[in-house]
Amino acid sequence: MKRFLRIVALWLVGYCLGWDSSSAPAAEVYQAGFGKVVITPDEPTPMSGYAGRTAPAKGKIHDLYARAAALRDPAGKTIVMVSTDLIGVPATMAQTICAEIEKRHGITRADIMLTCSHTHCGPALDDELTFMLFLPDAEMAKVKRYQPILNAKLIDVVGQAIADLKPAQLATGIGKAEFASHRRAPIGVGPIDHEVPVLRVLDAEGKTLRGVLFGYACHNTTMSFEMYCGDYAGFAQLYLEDHHPGAVALFHLGCGGDQNPLPRRKIEICEKYGRMLGVAVEKVMSQTMPPVTGAFKADLQRIDLPFASVPTAADLEIKKTKGGKHDQVLADKLLKRLAAGEKLPATYPYPVQVWQVGSGVTWVALGGEITVEYSLRIKEQLGQGRTWVTGYANDVMCYIPSEKILAEGGYEGETSQVYYQKPTKWAPGIEKAIVDKVVEMAAKSK
Ligand SMILES: [Zn+2]
Repeated sequence: MKRFLRIVALWLVGYCLGWDSSSAPAAEVYQAGFGKVVITPDEPTPMSGYAGRTAPAKGKIHDLYARAAALRDPAGKTIVMVSTDLIGVPATMAQTICAEIEKRHGITRADIMLTCSHTHCGPALDDELTFMLFLPDAEMAKVKRYQPILNAKLIDVVGQAIADLKPAQLATGIGKAEFASHRRAPIGVGPIDHEVPVLRVLDAEGKTLRGVLFGYACHNTTMSFEMYCGDYAGFAQLYLEDHHPGAVALFHLGCGGDQNPLPRRKIEICEKYGRMLGVAVEKVMSQTMPPVTGAFKADLQRIDLPFASVPTAADLEIKKTKGGKHDQVLADKLLKRLAAGEKLPATYPYPVQVWQVGSGVTWVALGGEITVEYSLRIKEQLGQGRTWVTGYANDVMCYIPSEKILAEGGYEGETSQVYYQKPTKWAPGIEKAIVDKVVEMAAKSK
């Protein structure tokens, strides 16, 4: 009952009294545009996220979407954020669609942030992770059919957002939602990040919500069934869009590599988490929010992160006979590459993106399934309350453990690497390399 009254109170603030946008400066005109497209596959495809799944999707709880927000500063610089109800952002997909977006709209790679919710109830993609499913040819053919359709839709949704650009009022704030738990043993005890960064976009008059971008650091793993579903993030986006007809709500996943929604596995719990996150966003939007001021800046660089070692043929022969099922198949694949005269890579080109959203917010977007200590450390170094850290952005190549988790090992530190077809774990020094690059890029962009 208490929660119901709180929601009603929030609606009243939004609808009856108008948004608190009185402090928005008149001199600086920002623009914003939004796009939204259904990306639910037309045929029942294999689903990604859990290695144990053997059946394709049986139906859907709700549609899966890709959403795009184009934001333009007063000097005319445009940045585009894309949010998807997908397991990952395959590197080849990112390359294909960003090249086309640049060709059509002149927007360069650093100005595009590609994110995913990492829902475990979405379609398998044409990426390295699909290796975890051991798909028969007919099922893999469905994945291959879906990928170009998805790519075309992502290019289209960015086009929609750019075509929709018009004057808008932008403001930012940070809320809180508390359902994410640290998932490594002892469960519920380790570090967490419950912040909910919010970018609110009102129309030029400050009367109507046109869109909202919001984040949260927690795996979208409430559900594990064979139904398409955006998990809690899908429910949160639909909750906000239901309450603001015409508005587009875009979720981005924080450093939730070692965070799970607990308890889980019931659809009503999944929906509840979505509602909790939606209400947290509403609460921020109902309060006074500092307007975005100043210019946008964007940078994207890659650092060559080293693997712990490059396996030799002898190492791989041992894995091929003594490893687990996935190890054996991967070892066989890598042995064939060695036999063909190929060299196995010693490093991976890891993407680090830093946006200045005006003078008030530094938005860091990091690739991979990155664990929560990264966001806590980066926010501490770049400034609490003015730093946002998104994970699973621009390329999801595997887990990115903190130095502590890498040393401890376990799923996020080592054993998950095989599902992403990575031959070994990362070399020590990964956390420092990433954080130092973020700090250097942030300093340059000021
Ligand atoms: Zn994951």
